[in-house]
Amino acid sequence: MSVVKKHNFGAGPCILPPAVMEQAANAIINWNNMGLSILEISHRSPEFESVILKAQLLIRELLNVPNNYEILFLQGGASSQFSMVPMNFLKNPSYGAYLDTGYFAQKAIKEAGLFGQVEIVASSQDKDYSYIPDIIELPQGAAYLHCTSNNTIEGTQMLSFPENTAPLICDMSSDIFSRSVDIKKFDLIYAGAQKNLGPAGMTLIIAKNEFLNTAKSPVPSMSDYRIYRDNMSMYNTPPVFSIYVALLNLIWLRDQGGISAIELQNVKKANTLYREVDRNPLFYGTANAAHRSKMNVTFKMHDPKLEEEFLRFAAENGIVGIKGYRTVGGFRASLYNALPLSSVEFLAQLMQDFEQKKNPVHQSSNLETANH
Ligand SMILES: *Cc1c(COP(=O)(O)O)cnc(C)c1O
Repeated sequence: MSVVKKHNFGAGPCILPPAVMEQAANAIINWNNMGLSILEISHRSPEFESVILKAQLLIRELLNVPNNYEILFLQGGASSQFSMVPMNFLKNPSYGAYLDTGYFAQKAIKEAGLFGQVEIVASSQDKDYSYIPDIIELPQGAAYLHCTSNNTIEGTQMLSFPENTAPLICDMSSDIFSRSVDIKKFDLIYAGAQKNLGPAGMTLIIAKNEFLNTAKSPVPSMSDYRIYRDNMSMYNTPPVFSIYVALLNLIWLRDQGGISAIELQNVKKANTLYREVDRNPLFYGTANAAHRSKMNVTFKMHDPKLEEEFLRFAAENGIVGIKGYRTVGGFRASLYNALPLSSVEFLAQLMQDFEQKKNPVHQSSNLETANH
């Protein structure tokens, strides 16, 4: 079975490796030769229990998760975490400290406001979230400090994380498993699966047990992390298929050489595209160079009138998903783990071809001044 593939730069749900797609497709028809589909097996069956255990084990191994951290699989997407975090941990008279780095951080801030006091400790809103702001004064009395490791829409990424501060909570939806992180620095990490982990429908939680024990009571069962922990993520029916495909993807990742190997690949991919964005006189990057994301490359054209034409040109050549987010415009190329370097090289080449098409001599001399 082989599939006609596009070069898919979509921001999410994102591509998965072809081998994973194929195994997932087979499992829908007849899983493990059981004569049953993965879609119809009981989540309480020993076979599925072993899927959950294997997935947890692989996550622990790949990310070096210490033993005092829990690994949980929830539904509701990362967006449910925006309210679940404060529901569990935002206690009066304390406050939730938030790093305001973009669209998703803002959503998290808005939800937290429903449950208690919120303080924004740093924001890059003044420049359209094109950079990661410094935290001038680390919050100490806060219930927690919430940050977003990679800003999927704006194309910025945190290179370091605050230390010696309130318990650290991080939305890692769009860069988890793309680079090594020191899990010990965080008290709770959450990630919607559909960027770098698997298909939509599952949300990964990695949380320090001691921190979970400090949660408020009562919390509605479906929003209580301790309930998921105490029921092996099976308090209710878990997202069986999403967890299974995530496991396949984690096995693929391990076979690639794990996080350090994929990180090297991701750096190469990002460098390839940023190099062309910087070189090509028609384009420019929108994120501050020091804070550029290696997962989501955002860029625009000096002449916005050309953007439609470039999009068409890219589409004609099998490129999908590079239109920028509707509030931001321009382009966004997402370079998640499963996207091969060859696709990125292909896009960079296409940008060069487009430059040629547009009469470079004339264009670049005009734009040199517009640029600065
Ligand atoms: C995609 C994304 C979300 C929203 O995820 P859902 O699973 O759709 O709720 C939240 N945060 C970040 C950083 C994202 O990239």
